Amino acid sequence: RDLHSFPTRRSSDLLQLEISERKRAEEAFHKTQAELAHLTRVMTMSELATSIAHEVNQPLAAIVTNGDACVRWLGLEPPNLDRARDSVARMINEGKRASEVIKRIRALSKKTTPHKSALQINELIHEMIALLGTELLKNKIRLTTQLGPDVPLVFGDRVQLQQVILNLVVNGIEAMSEVQGRSRELLMRTEKASSDRVQVSVQDCGCGLDAEQSEHLFEAFFTTKPGGIGMGLSISRTIIEAHGGRLWASPTSDYGAKFQFALPMAEGSES
Ligand code: ADP
Repeated sequence: RDLHSFPTRRSSDLLQLEISERKRAEEAFHKTQAELAHLTRVMTMSELATSIAHEVNQPLAAIVTNGDACVRWLGLEPPNLDRARDSVARMINEGKRASEVIKRIRALSKKTTPHKSALQINELIHEMIALLGTELLKNKIRLTTQLGPDVPLVFGDRVQLQQVILNLVVNGIEAMSEVQGRSRELLMRTEKASSDRVQVSVQDCGCGLDAEQSEHLFEAFFTTKPGGIGMGLSISRTIIEAHGGRLWASPTSDYGAKFQFALPMAEGSES
């Protein structure tokens, strides 16, 4: 009879352990979800591969943890079958989660296969603004556009170039999130820069660029944001350079930062 008190105590210890492990796994999952949402904004095919390992590792780790727990529940004298069954049920759920991540990534990668055509950059910007309407409102941001009437067409991938623009705008919005006591202004400009280039700029009046940090902005995983990943600008630069262009940042005279990119115009385009 006395023997039973030992497994009971072990049971409650194990239960405690399981609860804290589960809580940790849940928190990690929510964080991953938020990161994925942020990443898909700017994700290209090659970068997707990097995130797959990370995304799938978490459910795999949870499966191992629950497998260990299950073995322990079964090893008790007498075995606790209810708890063992719960652990197996969680393993099944984690397995399903892993396959959902893969499915989502597959769907994404289909969308990001580059497809180049002649594009009017002003049109892309208009589409972006329509998409961002509520985000701008919510953050009390006043957007001004100065879209050159004579901007030539560029030859590029619509989705990728939209991802770059979206990333620059979202960074501008985020940079202004702490601005108080002055208006939050975002300026988007397009112009014909030289005889054969189209230039786009996104200027905000947010926290601005620290001279020391400026050197690192475009490096992968450089971020100053608590929830940031630091992939946006590095992916954006990769995209622009793959289009034969250039992307750079400069401080503005008073507050904020200006991000600009230049792209070669499409051959034979003089729209
Ligand atoms: P993330 O947004 O995840 O941090 P990014 O690569 O898009 O990744 O940006 C890297 C870093 O560059 C940001 O963390 C921030 O420090 C800086 N940055 C980007 N855009 C701006 C901006 N408009 N104003 C000030 N700093 C910026």
